Amino acid sequence: MTTAESDNRPIVAYIASLDLMKISSLLPSNKNRSSLVHTLARSLDLFSRGFSSVRSIALVPPQSAAFAELNSYHTKEYLDFVLDPKSVDSGDTGTKTELGLEDDCPPFEGMSEYVRLVGGASLTTVKMLRQPRCELAICWDGGRHHAKKSQAAGFCYVADCTLALMALRRLTQPSSDPDSGPSRKMRTMYLDLDLHFSDGVSHAFHQTSKGSPHLLTFSIHHAAPGFFPASPLAELPFPGGDPFTLSLPLREGASNQTFAHAWKCVERVHAVFDPDYVVVQCGVDGLSGDPCAIFNWSLGPSEGSLGWCVGRIVNEWRGKKVLLGGGGYDSPNAARAWAYLTSVALGHPLSLDTEIPEHAYLNSYAPSFVLDVPAGNMQDQNSAEYLRTVEESFDVVISTIAERMKK
Ligand SMILES: [Zn+2]
Repeated sequence: MTTAESDNRPIVAYIASLDLMKISSLLPSNKNRSSLVHTLARSLDLFSRGFSSVRSIALVPPQSAAFAELNSYHTKEYLDFVLDPKSVDSGDTGTKTELGLEDDCPPFEGMSEYVRLVGGASLTTVKMLRQPRCELAICWDGGRHHAKKSQAAGFCYVADCTLALMALRRLTQPSSDPDSGPSRKMRTMYLDLDLHFSDGVSHAFHQTSKGSPHLLTFSIHHAAPGFFPASPLAELPFPGGDPFTLSLPLREGASNQTFAHAWKCVERVHAVFDPDYVVVQCGVDGLSGDPCAIFNWSLGPSEGSLGWCVGRIVNEWRGKKVLLGGGGYDSPNAARAWAYLTSVALGHPLSLDTEIPEHAYLNSYAPSFVLDVPAGNMQDQNSAEYLRTVEESFDVVISTIAERMKK
């Protein structure tokens, strides 16, 4: 084993702390999920220095976000309410409705610390990327892609993806120092793999990206009438639309094979946009076995699986990357998936038949007690004809992006 002095392995920053785990575990939609996620990762030895000879892990506690940091996107009115611990028991119904704090986003005990800490956790990934050796940062407690400027939505109380992308944009501004020579403005790609459309993030940058192609958002998701969230931006690219706000909707039963087809569009967009930074929202509610039961995606190992896609990003794409969490309502499967993706990010993928080690939550992993999240037998409704339509619509938008990149 190398010594600390001679260890030049690139670093993967893994954002975690006991506080973050406790506070994230209070989220009503994902009770205790965070505890399962981090405890499984630890029990699989992912946090040990010698786990991988390719990249080394650094456990980094999140910095709680300051009001001003949250206010760089969220409105003061929204923050005044969610950051006030008294709001849980008080606050009139009208205000709660206005701020989206009802139905699937009720105010909850710990909400103010949650917003500060989860917002701060995703911002910490960007701070870590400033270190030359840090190639990749992971925040499985982040990825809340539905939260809006002044509203909670879809189990999301803080727009941590948007905040991280904004911080990344500030980090990547070209230097104004004339002595530092010419510098190209850095480009960032946001890729969202959650079952649901990344409406919060896509809408946040949709307006501004028109004239400034330095940030591209790309969401692969399910879209159908009545399926959350409804948005005109959740559809296939269309002529005249913003080519830097992309969507690839898939139909029910999407399998590894369908994702392998869709992935060709992702690679082509990536190649033409050529980002310096990539932020991936790795929501796992599209995996087979999730209570949403819409897709039939598996964790690995074949082409098109979640693990394969993330492997492509971390091993084949240039630049620095951030991996965020997101949806995933079978907590043991979310823990399995994110532990496996952590091992992929470290350059030493665990075997999918790895047995879940003896630890406090072992019984949650019945009946398989192994790492794999295999596909089920749902029928894939993404016909060859539909996938051709997808490809054709991406042919057009990719040439538009290429044109715009020349300007
Ligand atoms: Zn989701």
